Amino acid sequence: MAPSAMSRGRDNWIASLSEAQPVPYWLEDPGKPGPEPALTGAETCDLLVVGGGYSGLWTALNAKERDPRRDVVLLEGREVGWAASGRNGGFCAASLTHGLPNGLTRWPDEIHELERLGRRNLDEIEAAVARHGIDCEFERTGEIDVATETYQARELRDWHRELQEQGLADGIDFLDEEAVRAQVNSPTFKAGLWDHQGVAMLHPAKLAWGLKQACLRLGVRVYEHTPALTLKQYGAGMAVRTPYGAVRARKVALGTNIFPSLLRRVRSYTVPVYDYALMTEPLGEERLAEIGWRGRQGLGDSANQFHYFRLSADNRILWGGYDAVHHYGGRVRAEYDDRPETYAKLAGHFFTCFPQLEGVRFTHAWGGAIDTCSRFSAFFGTAHQDKVAYAAGFTGLGVGATRFGADVMLDLLDGERTERTELEMVRKRPLPFPPEPFAWTGIALTKWSLARADAHGGRRNLWLRTMDKLGLGFDS
Ligand SMILES: Cc1cc2nc3c(=O)[nH]c(=O)nc-3n(C[C@H](O)[C@H](O)[C@H](O)COP(=O)(O)OP(=O)(O)OC[C@H]3O[C@@H](n4cnc5c(N)ncnc54)[C@H](O)[C@@H]3O)c2cc1C
Repeated sequence: MAPSAMSRGRDNWIASLSEAQPVPYWLEDPGKPGPEPALTGAETCDLLVVGGGYSGLWTALNAKERDPRRDVVLLEGREVGWAASGRNGGFCAASLTHGLPNGLTRWPDEIHELERLGRRNLDEIEAAVARHGIDCEFERTGEIDVATETYQARELRDWHRELQEQGLADGIDFLDEEAVRAQVNSPTFKAGLWDHQGVAMLHPAKLAWGLKQACLRLGVRVYEHTPALTLKQYGAGMAVRTPYGAVRARKVALGTNIFPSLLRRVRSYTVPVYDYALMTEPLGEERLAEIGWRGRQGLGDSANQFHYFRLSADNRILWGGYDAVHHYGGRVRAEYDDRPETYAKLAGHFFTCFPQLEGVRFTHAWGGAIDTCSRFSAFFGTAHQDKVAYAAGFTGLGVGATRFGADVMLDLLDGERTERTELEMVRKRPLPFPPEPFAWTGIALTKWSLARADAHGGRRNLWLRTMDKLGLGFDS
């Protein structure tokens, strides 16, 4: 592109953001329910769930469905669904391992079982959404991973062959350039891999709110604006202190994601990584026709620094990813949720992917913290003589996997050996992150190396190859 055309292009991208509100599109919905009252005074229960994101909500709901007589209380420090669960991309994937490539590399011996359990988990999410009448715009569209470079197209084809050899390609088709553009017309697409059934699109906040209503209907007592401040043994059970009260419980499940865990030992396993997204205005029929997308699949590109994109129910495009930002010290801060420099970059990438959509404007731009762990997929455990269970480290793929994590927590608290608790993936924990300044330095070097690999035909440098050998990594 000539320099003047490039700067004109950049001016247009920036202009497309001029009316974007720095708030998550999903959380602005007029159907947002009001919060439940905060806890004042003393409570007792069989099971206390801490955290009102998907992890906590599924734990409370499934606990009641397993045993309706179980007395369940849920504490949420702010409002149900305000964090990652209400601001994500809404890709609800069957994968429990942050994608098949990661799962196959780390757990080759149990990948078939992990895939089977993941598919069943997604089926059960679909069934629960229907059973509880949760209107979360659930569409089982599948997902296409697209190649935007020739080397990526080659890698996708090779990967598809490997999946076929391993018996893992069921429902997954390779699309050449013509076939992928027939689905979604971008001049940048060179190939695609379409997983027809393994991913659903949904409205993330509506799922969280719907799960809350379902919990309330089954008798879970939900307290919002009620952070759990401390967790201690108390007699044969556990006690949690809150600003205006306390809860005594026989068992406790922690679904607190990237927020400082009430169990100190769990904290070093995750670092907060900030991920950002834009939402366009609704596209009219004509504009949508310019790109096709009749199958409404979720899309992701195949670079290390990848984008994810999808249609909303009213035909907006959500466009997110690419920058995965880790701040020195690894803190979660509200000010990190907004990052105009990333929005400008994302807008530029959007119009490179869909030049036909020049003139379309973004209405919302936001970010949120992801609980990245060094193996990219969740880890589980118990403390205080198995009276407390936790699940965290979902990295950027927790919309579906949190329900599996909830079931693992309940298995562990119920003292049951199940097909879930027997998995090596469940029994073993990832390597923790080192303290600062080593964590920041290692992550910065990894990010720099990943960007270089993207710019140099996917070639991984010595640092990345060493990390690969150690089974360590950084992803969003
Ligand atoms: C921008 C973005 C895009 C994403 N896109 C996708 C995607 O498309 N697909 C996908 O699969 N995943 C995606 N993810 C990840 C996914 O959203 C998360 O993995 C998932 O929502 C985690 O759910 P959770 O319940 O564990 O955590 P959260 O939703 O973070 O909930 C944890 C809750 O615990 C509460 N809490 C913490 N500590 C306490 C305490 N002491 N007392 C009381 N309450 C407490 C918090 O207030 C919070 O509400 C994305 C994440 C982000 C940020």
